[in-house]
Amino acid sequence: MMKSDKRPDKASDRCRWCRRVLAAKTGPGRPREFCSQACRQWDWVASQRSKELALTENELVVARDELDDLKDKIYVLSCAIEDVRSDVSTKSRATRETLQEDLKWLIESAEPVIASDLRPQAL
Ligand SMILES: [Zn+2]
Repeated sequence: MMKSDKRPDKASDRCRWCRRVLAAKTGPGRPREFCSQACRQWDWVASQRSKELALTENELVVARDELDDLKDKIYVLSCAIEDVRSDVSTKSRATRETLQEDLKWLIESAEPVIASDLRPQAL
């Protein structure tokens, strides 16, 4: 099993909004919380919405269709993983072509999930 160097060790190594791994900080000053100005902005918008709705900082209002869209993409990815797992674990060796198609499908199923981003909704 290959290990990714990008795997974070702790939650504080990630952007508070998009959860991407933050680049290691050098020098003095406060630790970074966001990977970009856009993420800082979305987090601020979300906290404003939370205040308006008297929610806690850990609650977020998102549009149902956005959430359903993300769930659909996750479902497609889980189907791809199941198929690839089946091909990889099968006793008869999968052909190179099969494995290439598996990888292609896995990537095509994962990319939309990676590109997804839930945003706080305006009232
Ligand atoms: Zn971010």
